[in-house]
Amino acid sequence: MPNCCIVGGGVIGLSIARELAGRGRSVTVVSRDTLRKSASWAAAGIFPAQPRDTLTDYNGTPIERLTQYSDRLHEQWTKSLLEETGIDNGFRRCGSLAIATTEETVSQIQADEKKWERLRVKHESLSPTDLSDIEPALHGTVITRQIRRAFYLPDETQVRPPRHLAALRSACLTRGVEILDGHHVQNFEFDSSRIVAINTKDQKSTLRSICADQFCVAAGAWSEQLLQKLDINLPTKPWRGQILLHKIDPGMLRHIINFGSGLDYIIPRDDGHLLIGSTIEDAGFDTSTTPSSLYRLNKIAGEILPDVIANEPVSSWAGLRPGSPDGLPTVGRIPSADNAWLATGHYRSGFHLSTGTARLVSDSMCGIPTEMQLDAFSPVRAGLRGTICQTK
Ligand SMILES: Cc1cc2nc3c(=O)[nH]c(=O)nc-3n(C[C@H](O)[C@H](O)[C@H](O)COP(=O)(O)OP(=O)(O)OC[C@H]3O[C@@H](n4cnc5c(N)ncnc54)[C@H](O)[C@@H]3O)c2cc1C
Repeated sequence: MPNCCIVGGGVIGLSIARELAGRGRSVTVVSRDTLRKSASWAAAGIFPAQPRDTLTDYNGTPIERLTQYSDRLHEQWTKSLLEETGIDNGFRRCGSLAIATTEETVSQIQADEKKWERLRVKHESLSPTDLSDIEPALHGTVITRQIRRAFYLPDETQVRPPRHLAALRSACLTRGVEILDGHHVQNFEFDSSRIVAINTKDQKSTLRSICADQFCVAAGAWSEQLLQKLDINLPTKPWRGQILLHKIDPGMLRHIINFGSGLDYIIPRDDGHLLIGSTIEDAGFDTSTTPSSLYRLNKIAGEILPDVIANEPVSSWAGLRPGSPDGLPTVGRIPSADNAWLATGHYRSGFHLSTGTARLVSDSMCGIPTEMQLDAFSPVRAGLRGTICQTK
């Protein structure tokens, strides 16, 4: 059985490692930072509603089909992760409310409505009274007074990223995966067209060479720098997202609330934690939060639950979403090496897409035909033409 080495210990790298180890592979995960610095730890954990009729096949564009494939796998993974590790990852089909109060969010929500109809995603138009019936906390709030369009999506789901990551890590370790934290991959060693090892440096500057038969780069927003070492130019832009955390009485709010297309959202957790997100900022690799963004997020929460802003937030953080030039993830074989794969650029949906990505990459690494075509996500797809410059 070939040994596999995964570069990146975020949700994508760990999911691939778990999947490969489940197929009897010996796997090493190499990760530069602690999990808290990854986009995965920072994520909100929303899984937008998908068509749930399992009798019909996946439908829509390639990315829509990958999302549906991943969404169905999450249900199975949640169950098996709980059995393997005892960790509840917080996967709840809690449903969501999509609310538009401005002209801009009305047109976003109209476009979404067309998409829900095309994909057969369950959705229900709501009047202000319906809205207050479904979510009593909204009764009499500024939002209900200003509402122009609202929908209920019963199948929208949430997961708690730190818990899902803890479950993945624990499952990986149980399956014999070696996880090397604090190891910065510096370079790749080649023997003709095969990578034979990666060279790492740890926090004490100790150099190490890790050999394997197969490699997969899943380094999130940092993938571009790493891929340049393979003479591949794949622009992977970090898009900063900030999140504010409050605590309210458990059960006070029951649904995820999305404003317009969900750039702004509120997520109530079972234990009363309330996540308010987010921002999309071009701030390089800076993961600090800013007072102006946190003020804006606090204001969003205050319009729904005015008492919230009277309290100090519990916490706040920021993470870097890995963006790509055409908005699609890049998943597939690396053209410059015979034994290397790539899984990056999942932008705002990496948590949701992690299960499907892991299954497809693992199938490909094991030489099994993938259940879904990877052409649309290939590093040499048409949408990336002119950006990929492979010189090796
Ligand atoms: C605020 C915010 C909210 C989000 N909300 C959602 C959501 O609701 N739903 C959803 O599906 N997605 C969401 N996302 C997106 C999601 O978090 C990302 O798409 C996903 O986490 C990307 O995972 P990843 O494993 O590719 O990257 P990361 O989690 O960033 O992991 C990259 C890993 O690579 C390692 N690495 C990098 N360079 C090197 C190197 N040279 N050597 C060794 N290791 C290296 C890092 O240490 C890290 O372990 C959100 C993101 C943010 C920031």
